[in-house]
Amino acid sequence: MKRREFIINSALALGGAALLTGCGKKEIKKSEKQVVKRKFGSLEIPLIALGCMRLPMRDGKIDMVELDKMVEYAMEHGANYFDTAYMYVEGKSENAIGEILKKYPRESFFLADKSPAYLVNEPGDVRKLFNEQLKKCQVDYFDNYMVHNINENTIKNYRDNDMYGELLKLKKEGKIKHVGFSFHGDPDMLREVISEHKWDFCQLQINYLDWEVINAKELYEIADEAEVPVIVMEPLRGGGLCNLPEKAANKLKEDCPDDTQASFGLRWVTSKKRVFTILSGMSNFQQLKENVDTFTNFREFTEEEEKTAKAVTQIMQSQGAINCTACKYCMEVCPRGINIPAIFGLYNVYKSNGNGFMFGVNYNALKESERADKCINCHLCSKNCPQGLDIPALLKKVEKTVKEAANKK
Ligand code: SF4
Ligand code: SF4
Repeated sequence: MKRREFIINSALALGGAALLTGCGKKEIKKSEKQVVKRKFGSLEIPLIALGCMRLPMRDGKIDMVELDKMVEYAMEHGANYFDTAYMYVEGKSENAIGEILKKYPRESFFLADKSPAYLVNEPGDVRKLFNEQLKKCQVDYFDNYMVHNINENTIKNYRDNDMYGELLKLKKEGKIKHVGFSFHGDPDMLREVISEHKWDFCQLQINYLDWEVINAKELYEIADEAEVPVIVMEPLRGGGLCNLPEKAANKLKEDCPDDTQASFGLRWVTSKKRVFTILSGMSNFQQLKENVDTFTNFREFTEEEEKTAKAVTQIMQSQGAINCTACKYCMEVCPRGINIPAIFGLYNVYKSNGNGFMFGVNYNALKESERADKCINCHLCSKNCPQGLDIPALLKKVEKTVKEAANKK
């Protein structure tokens, strides 16, 4: 282990006492190259932001050394917006990002967090959870704070407990600067939620595949028409749009040789002008650097490139992949510990490369207890899936496919 890693890890093991809580705050060495920004009210927000749902991991734990390096690079390049949530990385994301950000002056970064609607059983829970989150993040206010994941399963909690009203009180106390919501419901529900209150912003899942295949276009247009500023989540569909099937990857390379798959997907989102920042989960320094480069050497997305996005989408649709973003929300409720995103990920790889032998090998490398045949069909997972997938039915389909694929070899 290098000396810097040793010191940081030791400091973090001691609760961050030695290195990170010195008397002064860290000075940010501003790079000449800054990421492009967009207006959000009177603020200028970086168009690319670090989503903290997928953080760098090492030996099953958040890799704080890598995260520290990533945050430093992001801050130096003006990518100073960070988005976390109560349940991200099994409840450890808030602590991790808080531990790193506490080195910087509070006014030098934007921090967004979310109220876990599924844990709110009475209005007072909102404040209790909020205070816990402030503590975990080691801040005394959040720049943006949301009702997390409004969908058909959580909307009752959100309404019955007047979560908006509770957040408004916190806003009046100066503990939240802007109140919003993240959303995984259908267009009619979005219309209702938007019209119920005066929201400062909303957070939607938008990317070029969902624009055509699911309902991202309609959701965006509803927010746009209501003039509610938009934050985009899952711009690369949980990494699926930077791991394209071969035919789609070739088409993209041929049409847009100056882009990577990630830069193409992120630049596509920027063509939506109501969007003021794009959250991208980045699991290592290299991914962060690549994303920051895309937004420091920014090129507008063109109409010609839009044709490529449509062509790539068509190719992907023809592959019959499962629309899983690997968010793992299903795994939080599965009583059998089925590794749902891993199973769907293997299936999607098989659909893109047709290699049945490797599908079988990789599937059998999963722990027996985590495989599809251990599903008891309780449907708890589907209720928690933001993509509305019928997970038990899809697991059966994968199980059948893997058997057929193995028999073909
Ligand atoms: S239906 Fe299957 S995969 Fe879903 S929660 Fe129940 S046991 Fe887990
Ligand atoms: S199946 Fe749904 S909830 Fe589970 S990881 Fe995929 S998208 Fe997320």
